[in-house]
Amino acid sequence: MSNSALSVISSDPPEKWQEILADLITDPKELTEILQLNSNRGSDSLLAQAGLDRFSLKVPRPFARRMQRGNWDDPLLRQVWPSQLEDEVDLSLSEDPLQESSFNQAQGLLQKYRGRVLLTAAPHCAVNCRYCFRRHFDYAANTPGKQQWQETLGQIGRDSSISEVILSGGDPLAAGDNYLKWLLTQIDTLRQITTIRIHTRLPVVIPQRITSSLCQTLASLNSKLVIVIHCNHGQEIDSSVQLAMQKLRATGATLMNQSVLLKGINNDAAILVSLSHKLFDMNVMPYYLHLPDRVAGTGHFLVDEQEGLDLITEIRALLPGYLVPRLVREDPGSDSKTRLG
Ligand code: SF4
Repeated sequence: MSNSALSVISSDPPEKWQEILADLITDPKELTEILQLNSNRGSDSLLAQAGLDRFSLKVPRPFARRMQRGNWDDPLLRQVWPSQLEDEVDLSLSEDPLQESSFNQAQGLLQKYRGRVLLTAAPHCAVNCRYCFRRHFDYAANTPGKQQWQETLGQIGRDSSISEVILSGGDPLAAGDNYLKWLLTQIDTLRQITTIRIHTRLPVVIPQRITSSLCQTLASLNSKLVIVIHCNHGQEIDSSVQLAMQKLRATGATLMNQSVLLKGINNDAAILVSLSHKLFDMNVMPYYLHLPDRVAGTGHFLVDEQEGLDLITEIRALLPGYLVPRLVREDPGSDSKTRLG
């Protein structure tokens, strides 16, 4: 590693991520007060009762600081606000639209595609995104201890067809440094594993998570490292996120982004174009633009396929090809994501 990369990695932010994680906004009333939101607003501002019981409010304060005061339509707020629209019953939506329970081969292990496996490395996230496709996932049954991980990793190690391990969650970076270091090192020592991929929203919602200790662990891996952040709107990116990306980049990781196409949040060509530019400015390649999965409680975020295709056509005319994310849909049981357009 070069000296300049080392100096980027070795600086730590003044705020401790563990303290931020322990002090999330969980009370909707507190969030409305911080954001100075007027209660005279339509039904989408009213609170979901059932939705909130099943999937609590969790908002990191650094993320809330990027929300506009007094604006119920703020695109960051809409991603986390438990609107009563979640309580509307729609029988075409499912708690497990991707049928992940049928791919859940062992505690913490999902294998949906050939050649790669997914580990639910942490049973929780720093933020509860209301559109989350795993909002009904059984994390309690997927939180292995070290011994169970060792059995699972042994199983992966015996399967020579697997070359990539994906850490997902929950959010893998919500786990502590020591545990992550242990898990990553165990994976890294599996002979046939060439790539470790981490899917995470933490560098966006709590960029302070990207500590020197974490970066040193990431930089020490022999496997190729891919980090896929999850950012839906350019307003999520501020100087602290830019710094976090600079540090992750200095570890030698390839950085990519996936977004979910969400009604009322980013289903707009100008917003998506701006997001691609901001990502590229941080050396993050736009990768996937996902149609939302048909998850119970998230019907108000759904964007249909034709609208997605029209948006991609529009942004293709405005961006160089390498900045146009791939519009995809996930179909349960399919060999890979289905690319559209
Ligand atoms: S960070 Fe990802 S896994 Fe966690 S709640 Fe948000 S969308 Fe779901």
